[in-house]
Amino acid sequence: MTKRPQPLFRSVFVKLVSIMLAMAFALLALVVGFFVLIIYPHLSFTTERLIDEYTRLFMASSPDLAAAQQAARRLDVEIRYEGPRGTWSTSTRLPTIADVRSGRLRGTPAGMDYETETAPDGGAYLFAWRFGQVNRGVHTKLLWLLLVLMIGVVLAAYAFQRRLLRPVRWLDAGVAGLSSGRLDIAVPVRTHDEFGVLTQAFNRMVQRVSRMVQARDQLLLDVSHELRSPLTRMKLALEFLPEGEQRAGMAADVNEMERMVSELLELERLRDGRGVRRVRQSLLPLLREVAAEFRDRAPGVHLSITEREIMVDIDAEKLRTVLRNLLENAFKYSLPDSRPVELSTSENGDNIAVRVSDDGPGIPQSDLESIFEPFFRVDRSRSKSTGGYGLGLSICKRIMEAHGGTITVVRNAGRGTTFFLKLAKS
Ligand code: ADP
Repeated sequence: MTKRPQPLFRSVFVKLVSIMLAMAFALLALVVGFFVLIIYPHLSFTTERLIDEYTRLFMASSPDLAAAQQAARRLDVEIRYEGPRGTWSTSTRLPTIADVRSGRLRGTPAGMDYETETAPDGGAYLFAWRFGQVNRGVHTKLLWLLLVLMIGVVLAAYAFQRRLLRPVRWLDAGVAGLSSGRLDIAVPVRTHDEFGVLTQAFNRMVQRVSRMVQARDQLLLDVSHELRSPLTRMKLALEFLPEGEQRAGMAADVNEMERMVSELLELERLRDGRGVRRVRQSLLPLLREVAAEFRDRAPGVHLSITEREIMVDIDAEKLRTVLRNLLENAFKYSLPDSRPVELSTSENGDNIAVRVSDDGPGIPQSDLESIFEPFFRVDRSRSKSTGGYGLGLSICKRIMEAHGGTITVVRNAGRGTTFFLKLAKS
């Protein structure tokens, strides 16, 4: 069965990464909010008061240019005076007081903050400083640094989480393998955390299941072997019974038992790709021949195969068994109003697919995965009309695997079932 891709929002990994990103953004918002709502207003308020205080003290001493230059060096403040004592400036880059007062110079030059004050002598002072911009510049750099750091941490955490969740991916592959029938699975245990414990428990479970399946197969094999001789003796003894209804009934029962025993032995012979002798030959005559065997049965068979010769490496007898089993089921489960069973081929690159499609009641979706298991039957109670042992399809699967091919099944869109056999061309 193909694995359906999991929606992203259901993935634990995506959930963890989302939580991590949400935390990172919440932290970033907190830090930015702290700066914007607390640090900046507080800083501006304190700076403005300090500057007010300073300018008042400064102006009270009616300084000259030399004193202003000293103060400018000490405090990183530029000062300009325009008034009855003349005009001087600690920096040639300062604008005139009239320019600043007119508001035309906002923010220029070089990102300075300005303050003009009327001096006690009737003149005016211009104070220009950079503290605000410098502080804001430092804070902006800090925020950028924080953002880069957070991206780094998120990326590192992403890589770490991917690594941390590796056991889940391995377990996922292990479970998929187990459900597709592989019993030799051992998921690597590389950690000693909860995932490690879970993986060990999974491996132990696989070993137990594998031992149980082996014991079941061995038991079936032993019983089948043991039953062969008594069955032969019973068949012989039947020959000596007088002809009649009782003998016919017993013969039918013995034949049924014999069929089951030989199917079981066949299943075992095919284990691990054994019991198949492949020869390069044309596939189409085989398909025509098997279809002809079913030609006269209702609801009929519709053959739709390529004209071109298709060469394959097959054991013709075994492949005939597969086709007969599939067609037998398709006919057995067809309904009185069903359209003919379809046997068709389609080429896909180096592969050839043979399709057997019927218009019967179909197989429930939940049973599709188990349909190739030995003894599996959709209708658990064996009825005389459809009465098999649920071994036919498991034999088909073993034969196809022994050919390096596959057998798959799907429910038809409307009604019925389609089986696909895939083989490599040679
Ligand atoms: P059986 O000998 O019981 O038919 P199979 O292995 O051939 O054993 O099939 C297993 C079960 O799969 C059947 O019992 C039947 O329930 C179901 N099945 C197989 N082929 C079809 C089909 N074409 N339509 C509906 N059910 C099917």
